[in-house]
Amino acid sequence: MDEAKCYEMLREVRWKEGIKCPHCESDAIIKNGHDEVHRQRYYCQDCERNFDDLTDIVFSGSNKSLKVWVVALYLMGLNLSNTQLAK
Ligand SMILES: [Zn+2]
Repeated sequence: MDEAKCYEMLREVRWKEGIKCPHCESDAIIKNGHDEVHRQRYYCQDCERNFDDLTDIVFSGSNKSLKVWVVALYLMGLNLSNTQLAK
């Protein structure tokens, strides 16, 4: 998997029920460009704050292990338990 594919998958899992602002839970979101590693940026029209695909996720800032986490998120999306996930 390449990095772009990872972010695609991450978005699929994270925004499964639509993109929501992590600050105020509004869904009045507009896309606000990509950064250099394909991370999508968003702008919330309600609280006027920016966020991106990784905002408020545990691995925020540690791009090294992104692939591992994306796979984990993907498996979580399949409703596997934590024990199954750890394996
Ligand atoms: Zn907001």
